[in-house]
Amino acid sequence: MDLETTVLEAIHRRYREVFGDRFKLNELMARHTSARVGGPAEMFVTVGNATELQMAVELAYAQHIPYFVLGGGSNILVADGGIGGLVILNKARNVRFRHTGLNVVCTAESGMNLSSLARQCIAKGLGGLEWAVNVPGTVGGAVVGNSGAHGGDTNSNLLAATIWEPGLGARIYSNEEMAYGYRDSVLKREQRSDEPRRVVLSAELVLKPEPVEVLLARADGFVARRKQTQPGGASMGSMFKNPPHYYAGYLIDAAGLKGFRSGGAHISEKHANFFINDDDATAEDIRALIAEAWNVVREQFGVELELEVELIGNWHFDEEVNE
Ligand SMILES: Cc1cc2nc3c(=O)[nH]c(=O)nc-3n(C[C@H](O)[C@H](O)[C@H](O)COP(=O)(O)OP(=O)(O)OC[C@H]3O[C@@H](n4cnc5c(N)ncnc54)[C@H](O)[C@@H]3O)c2cc1C
Repeated sequence: MDLETTVLEAIHRRYREVFGDRFKLNELMARHTSARVGGPAEMFVTVGNATELQMAVELAYAQHIPYFVLGGGSNILVADGGIGGLVILNKARNVRFRHTGLNVVCTAESGMNLSSLARQCIAKGLGGLEWAVNVPGTVGGAVVGNSGAHGGDTNSNLLAATIWEPGLGARIYSNEEMAYGYRDSVLKREQRSDEPRRVVLSAELVLKPEPVEVLLARADGFVARRKQTQPGGASMGSMFKNPPHYYAGYLIDAAGLKGFRSGGAHISEKHANFFINDDDATAEDIRALIAEAWNVVREQFGVELELEVELIGNWHFDEEVNE
């Protein structure tokens, strides 16, 4: 047995000691992504609270293993070739509320499902998160990507976030330190680097007491609007960010690409910024749709679309370029 294998086995043993059978090898990512595509994660662990989350991250960091925190998997496209290193599935879902003068602050662990949290707040007569009633994913994913809908976004709710800085420890980031932009934050920008990423442990969200009926009516309106304008089926939501002065979906539609197919995936007829897995799509099928939309929109309108979805894992772009 070579040294590398011995070291890897020691790492597997350590994770099994701490996490038991929640640590797995070669777990298929298609089981954990909203688009239902993606190859195996070399190592995979499920964490149940913020302490376990930071522990899983620190163990990986100390062993120089690349790690990736997975929330709802609703804003990522994982390669068919899978992901090397460790994927940490975040199920840290503790939620607390505290009154502060006129408002209420909700502290939610980052693995909490955002839409369930929004529903919970509505039931308690706490307003502010109605925009999130049908936004998939976790609080952590929303804090990183500044997710938003119907005129609201995470930035407008977030008071502060507790963030684990690998090798350093936990630190509270104020809203200003998150440096939010449209579907963007200081943590989202970090995704472009190969450095170990910071991890959101929990978020403090500001809510305002309002009558439950008012909140419910608002939320129902948002749900109805979404049903009217967005397709069902397995997708990652909006594939591209809206460029300044345009809607990405409008440009893809105007380029004649509604219904365009690649293998088992197609560009939605209902909303051209949604790329749908018909059941048996590969990640490569979806990536081919991305390439087609990007190229055709650039050719026809001179606009270079920027991905909102993050491509993760072992893609083989270099081989393609060299062919
Ligand atoms: C049908 C559909 C509709 C959608 N509609 C909307 C919408 O209206 N508005 C909108 O903004 N988005 C929308 N999305 C996209 C998606 O819901 C959001 O981007 C969501 O916030 C992603 O959260 P997630 O937990 O699924 O993140 P994931 O996809 O699991 O991860 C996304 C990124 O965040 C990182 N991340 C996740 N958790 C943490 C953490 N705790 N610490 C550090 N990094 C972390 C991951 O590592 C990854 O880089 C939609 C998606 C779908 C499928």
